[in-house]
Amino acid sequence: MPGPASIVAGAVNFLMPSRRRTTGYSVLLGFLLAAGVLTVVSLALLDARRDAWERASDASANLARALERDLSSEIKSIDLSLQAVIDTMTQVGAEQITAEFRRAIVLRHVDAARYLDAVLLLDETGEIVFDTRERMPETPVNLADRDYFAAHRKRADYGLFVSKPFRSRLADGQWSIGFSRRLSQPDGSFAGVVLGVIRLGRLEAAFEGMQLGPGGAMTLFRQDGTILARTPADERQLGRDLSSAPAVRRAQQADAGQFVAISGIDAVERLYTHRRLKDVPIFINVALAVDDVYAAWRRKAAAIGAVMLLLVGAMAVMFVRLQRELVHRRALEQAARASEATFRLLAENSSDIVSRLDSDGRRLYVSPAAERVLGRPSAELIGRSALDDAVPEDLPVVQEVMARLRAGEREVRVEYRVLRPDGEMVWLEASARATLDPRTGEPDGVVAVARDVTERKSLENKLASLARTDGLTGLANRRTFDEALAAEWRRARRDEAPLSLLLLDIDRFKLFNDTYGHPAGDECLKAVAKAITAAVHRPADLIARYGGEEIVVLLPGIPSDGAAVVAERVRAAIEAVGLAHSANLPFGVVTASVGAATALPVAGSDLAAGALVAAADAALYSAKHSGRNCVTVATSVPPLATPLPLPADEGARLAARDAAATTDSRN
Ligand code: GH3
Ligand code: MG
Ligand code: MG
Repeated sequence: MPGPASIVAGAVNFLMPSRRRTTGYSVLLGFLLAAGVLTVVSLALLDARRDAWERASDASANLARALERDLSSEIKSIDLSLQAVIDTMTQVGAEQITAEFRRAIVLRHVDAARYLDAVLLLDETGEIVFDTRERMPETPVNLADRDYFAAHRKRADYGLFVSKPFRSRLADGQWSIGFSRRLSQPDGSFAGVVLGVIRLGRLEAAFEGMQLGPGGAMTLFRQDGTILARTPADERQLGRDLSSAPAVRRAQQADAGQFVAISGIDAVERLYTHRRLKDVPIFINVALAVDDVYAAWRRKAAAIGAVMLLLVGAMAVMFVRLQRELVHRRALEQAARASEATFRLLAENSSDIVSRLDSDGRRLYVSPAAERVLGRPSAELIGRSALDDAVPEDLPVVQEVMARLRAGEREVRVEYRVLRPDGEMVWLEASARATLDPRTGEPDGVVAVARDVTERKSLENKLASLARTDGLTGLANRRTFDEALAAEWRRARRDEAPLSLLLLDIDRFKLFNDTYGHPAGDECLKAVAKAITAAVHRPADLIARYGGEEIVVLLPGIPSDGAAVVAERVRAAIEAVGLAHSANLPFGVVTASVGAATALPVAGSDLAAGALVAAADAALYSAKHSGRNCVTVATSVPPLATPLPLPADEGARLAARDAAATTDSRN
């Protein structure tokens, strides 16, 4: 058996089903709702209609019953009065009673009956013998032509006879009905008629005040179908024989009943309620027009129906709007989901780290690549600040980037190093973009795409160092030397410190190549470089291959005598290698000549770095002339007549030196 929770879940599922089914369900739901409301209202209206009918039929039955009782008892009392009059007339010795006294007795009976207007006594010829109404007509009135007179004369057993309505010949021609009984001689022969007259006006007054509606009618019929009285009053109908009308025929068949039929008088459909009076050949017919019975209900139903239609219409409009809104929202959601899916696909399959940070640099989201690059699980990275991962040296760079983004810059690029928990260092190249709060337009965070560029960085470093070193000897190259010379020159001038330079050239190296071959010459160069490197100790010193087999040693802060010491140490170290060089006589091993020069650059002086090189070169030249494998220290650094191009072009420099040499004698 399902518990309440599962019933609720089922209801929720029905009312808010999965999106795909929503449209179908909500159309059905809307339709069912409207149909349900319409059904309930229709049932209630039908019920009200039945109620209206029942009320009307109950009311007319009650009315008929009440009238029947009232009229029955009234007519009974009329009959009793008539019989009392007959008794008085036919008593033995009645003829001895005076007319005055007889009249008083009869009047008492007339007063006792409510509707009774007058009592008349007719003799066997139809002459009025006696009338309770005081004024007797001057000329005798004969009523032998009346139906009641004819009936009683013809038959003795009529009992109480009910006449057709007639216009009174005595009471100003008023419509009346007569109730009569026969007077008989002691031998049973016809002696006249006792007639009780009631005025229709009085009877009809009793009908008044009954709410039968505009199409309603109440009719008093004689049992044979003759109309005795009717409300609404219509003289033309009085005395009319309706015995052929179906409604009358049906009413004649039972003491009481109710049915619906078309009126024989005006062809209106009516609810007929008929009831026969007790002991009198009269029946009452209460007729209500069916239209009147339903009139109030119809008005109510029309009003309710109109309101219902309005409501259902409004519901339909709302429903259509809601539906449209739903479809629209679903389309938006689908688009959002599709774009989110695309984004996830991109972010999660990218080798780049896609991350979202708050304005303090804390990560709110990282794509899976972060785990691999940063060496930490995503769960640990979320909520951790990107600043916490940067190596301390690069922290200022990262902080500055965050500050710039906070200050309103939209996009910033940065390269920095991250220390992984396993101790490895990773270079990241990140492009960060500030995200703006859609409401305020203020930066509220950062979206960053970062890439591991460690490999590229190490390649770049390698390339940079390759560009600065000489491939054969591993010493700094000429370009590095030129830059270092310029920088050290500036520094020496600023610090007013000496700057020394050794220029070294391997002796008779052309012959070495000729003797041992070029590859051996290269090996020799390497050995010489190694020897020099071993002989020069201070970190600020720079050893560089100046060109060919010429090597320079830059000695910042070293005065002339110090330079001489280093120069001699270098020369001795090369010779000490002891590489055989048979053509280099008298030494027999590889040797080098060294020229040393020291300058003290002074601010404002036009002495240039080139002059130091020229001076060292001149000293080297002099060392070569002094027999090679020796050191010559320049005594001064004269300014250059024509400044050497710096960085000096090898060809130009050699040409300049050769020009100077022609003036000297070379051994
Ligand atoms: P000196 O004692 O007067 O210096 O005589 P030298 O033969 O050394 O003359 P110089 O310095 O003018 O000659 C340079 C020679 O060095 C030319 C070339 O054959 C040789 N050389 C220059 N660079 C290289 C190099 O990289 N490798 C080799 N194997 N030989 C080189
Ligand atoms: Mg040379
Ligand atoms: Mg040489």
